[in-house]
Amino acid sequence: MLETDFAVIGGSYAGLSAALQLARARRKVLVVDAGQRRNRFVDEAGGTSHGFLSRDGQAPGAIAAEARQQLLRYPTVQWIDGTAEDAALAEAGRFAFRAGGRSVHAGRLILATGVRDELPAVPGLQERWGRSVFHCPYCHGYELDAGAIGIIASGAVAQHHATMLPDWGQATLFLNGAYQPTEEELATFARRGTRVEAMPIARITGVAEVVLTDGRTLAMNGLFAQPRTHLASPVAEQLGCALTQGPTGAFIQVDAMQQTSVPNVFACGDAARAAGNVAIAVAEGAMAGVAAHRASMF
Ligand SMILES: Cc1cc2nc3c(=O)[nH]c(=O)nc-3n(C[C@H](O)[C@H](O)[C@H](O)COP(=O)(O)OP(=O)(O)OC[C@H]3O[C@@H](n4cnc5c(N)ncnc54)[C@H](O)[C@@H]3O)c2cc1C
Repeated sequence: MLETDFAVIGGSYAGLSAALQLARARRKVLVVDAGQRRNRFVDEAGGTSHGFLSRDGQAPGAIAAEARQQLLRYPTVQWIDGTAEDAALAEAGRFAFRAGGRSVHAGRLILATGVRDELPAVPGLQERWGRSVFHCPYCHGYELDAGAIGIIASGAVAQHHATMLPDWGQATLFLNGAYQPTEEELATFARRGTRVEAMPIARITGVAEVVLTDGRTLAMNGLFAQPRTHLASPVAEQLGCALTQGPTGAFIQVDAMQQTSVPNVFACGDAARAAGNVAIAVAEGAMAGVAAHRASMF
């Protein structure tokens, strides 16, 4: 049995940031991480992360690795490479789960488990995820050199991309049978300069070439999709944390201090918001770490 004051489940940007606050308060903190960062596809493509102050243009894995190295210098930090499973309330208000073949008991939990993306079923899209297919224009729009940008609709949520992306290039919205804009939305797209293509997509080839079912091919510098998001881990549900439904999927409900609906369980990062990025995950992780520490005293 491993006993700890605090356990952080998920050791990427949000979890590392939460654990750092606790380590610096000289508290015993265990971090458990399954090593499946949401943006790992960018590393696999040899790409870079953008928009996080002082780390703009660095490999996402390198940012996380440096943060982990700095955290592990603190003597009260323990780390398990593995998946936290079977989370439950234990005796005396503590929490129990299994990780790395061990039983863990913790006084307070921070869930930083992130989300998993489910892309629309367009042949060729998944292989290009993080390479030339993205979801966040702030993260990857600038690098498309103000060129041709395709938006692959997977529902009405595509109207956001279709309205925003002209700030990053010449945008074409591919409805792909998934979304029928209203007259008002079409007027907005026209005002913004977004072309609308109704012909369904057969497949994606090359860097970001959209092959339509009528045989035409439209070459793009990059593509944007709106993946369905799923909580990457069932631990929040196992603990009875309330969830909130967002435009792309459910996330863990938290208050301004990152407290979930279950006392002494905090959540941060992509798992606890409708849309996130590295900077926001780090900020919310810091808040969760501070809040969990304060909850142990007040
Ligand atoms: C293709 C792509 C490109 C992106 N580019 C950018 C960018 O350029 N700039 C930017 O700011 N943001 C970018 N993002 C968004 C960014 O990846 C996320 O906002 C960020 O990773 C969220 O951090 P997080 O710590 O909340 O979750 P994650 O980074 O997803 O980490 C969650 C961690 O928890 C672990 N975990 C899950 N369940 C368990 C469990 N039960 N036990 C143990 N560990 C568990 C996972 O394995 C993972 O390591 C991109 C996302 C994608 C998909």
